[in-house]
Amino acid sequence: MNIPFSPPDISQAEIDSVVETLKSGWITTGPKTKEFENKISEYIGIKKTACLSSATAAMEMTLRLLDIGHGDEVIVPAYTYTASCSVIYHVGATPVMVDIQKSVPEMDYDLMEKSITENTKAIIVVDLAGIICDYGKVYDIVNRNESKFAVSEDNDIQKRLGRIAVIADSSHGFGAVRNGKKSGMHADFTCFSFHAVKNLTTAEGGAVTWKSIDGIDDEKIYKEYMNLSLHGQTKDALDKTKAGSWEYDIVYPAYKCNMTDIQASIGLEQLKRYPNMLDRRQEIIRKYDAAFKERDVKVLSHQSDRYCSSGHLYFIRPEGITEEQRNDIIVKLAELGIASNVHYKPLPMLTAYKNMGFDIVNYPNAYNYYKNEITLPLYSKLTDEQVEYIISGVISILKDYER
Ligand SMILES: *Cc1c(COP(=O)(O)O)cnc(C)c1O
Repeated sequence: MNIPFSPPDISQAEIDSVVETLKSGWITTGPKTKEFENKISEYIGIKKTACLSSATAAMEMTLRLLDIGHGDEVIVPAYTYTASCSVIYHVGATPVMVDIQKSVPEMDYDLMEKSITENTKAIIVVDLAGIICDYGKVYDIVNRNESKFAVSEDNDIQKRLGRIAVIADSSHGFGAVRNGKKSGMHADFTCFSFHAVKNLTTAEGGAVTWKSIDGIDDEKIYKEYMNLSLHGQTKDALDKTKAGSWEYDIVYPAYKCNMTDIQASIGLEQLKRYPNMLDRRQEIIRKYDAAFKERDVKVLSHQSDRYCSSGHLYFIRPEGITEEQRNDIIVKLAELGIASNVHYKPLPMLTAYKNMGFDIVNYPNAYNYYKNEITLPLYSKLTDEQVEYIISGVISILKDYER
């Protein structure tokens, strides 16, 4: 058997939809992208969504929307993908990295609170593996620290919020639910990824949604994202095709990270299939959970009476093994034809962040979580037979490492 780690689940419907878009005469941002934005809003139950070229772009444009830059600090977990943090550098702000909890890969909320200074403008919260974080705690903390917040008077959104902005990196969390609310309804701004390995894909792509802010028109925020992502141009390509409507203005020299209609046409078909795809992920998780329950292995809790994850990643953490043993297990799985992965090597262990002065010794929980973590294949196309094969492969390999 040869089981890849995370192939995209593309059906004939996506292929037909792309062909139709290609033949339609409109391939860049246009009607399909607007339709995809509306369908995402409807799916989540919020007012507006802006589709962009990636989650990275969505996070960076959100920081720009808030005028976060030089002299500002943004809090981010050490246990995440580089994009949650690199965007802070992109805008010229300073990342303040926080360790995770001992047994949960969510930021340590006490450390988060202690990291707040009068320069803190935002907290980027990561819904790892598709499990929505405890935003109740995050909001308690930002509200408690409101008096510390030094508002930038030039930015309407900062003024209206009057506190640290909460930005979710929910690249993994599209469709996840907590307390009856889907991802997109928890943070002030929520960023999703539709990259090829994510649950719902447009090959490359992303979106940002936000909770309505008192005194600020949702349309104004939407328009600002459009400006930011398309050169600061007052009319997009489609508006300009209207007869006689050639003239536009550039309001500031902005960026270029819009979504194309080709991508949106994939996303629209994926979205129709998405509830079934999510169900299949949970079904596989239940099989894995049942198989590893009696073993000396820690797994994430993807479901409880309060939440249901999007089932993006399945972590196993065999107890008592070293980093080297973990790497050996990954090689042995590969020899059985099972691709696995590690999520994540903590940011302070990567060259870019070491060069910025971060040191893993200051993030012991992140290191301990990482050292025995193995991510197993989990995707809607995985067959029952493959799941059984993975389970028996993992169990037979782990026998050699049991305490
Ligand atoms: C995939 C991923 C991103 C980046 O998503 P893109 O759409 O590729 O920009 C950001 N954060 C996390 C946690 C991710 O897994």
